[in-house]
Amino acid sequence: MDILAHSLWAIAVIPGEQIAGKIILGIMPDLAVFGPNLLVIAIKGKKLPRFKTRENMMDWFEKKDNRWVKTLYRWTHSLVIWSLLIMAGFFLCKYHGYPPPWFLLAAPLHILLDIPTHTKKSFPVEFLTPLSSFQLDGIHWSQKWVLLINYLIVSAILLFRYIL
Ligand SMILES: [Zn+2]
Repeated sequence: MDILAHSLWAIAVIPGEQIAGKIILGIMPDLAVFGPNLLVIAIKGKKLPRFKTRENMMDWFEKKDNRWVKTLYRWTHSLVIWSLLIMAGFFLCKYHGYPPPWFLLAAPLHILLDIPTHTKKSFPVEFLTPLSSFQLDGIHWSQKWVLLINYLIVSAILLFRYIL
């Protein structure tokens, strides 16, 4: 899903008031992989190529120099890894007497939204990494009707939560 949709979903359904935290964690599984990717490209003095199709894009990420991005993507989109991080976060907050860090749940929400909206051809989500490489062949989020339904549902939830 796109970054705007992930941010809106995080604000819409995650408990608590920490909007900025929800947005940051809501996009973190992508930010943690494509941020370093852009940084590495910039350090090399290059630019991300303009991909004509998703196949072009995946071919580029398949190249020897860029394959690490796909590997890192598997780890940042793992419910196993985020479960461990979140348990540690909740434990530390409780230990130090802080309120529960609900906003951390925006990261697994991101993954749950990505699982059915990515195809095997375009960054499939191996959400059980490193235990399993199981992946679903979903319907891509960039299809117009998926985008429409997605934004209608998240807008309705936001409306009920914050305005009505
Ligand atoms: Zn993602």
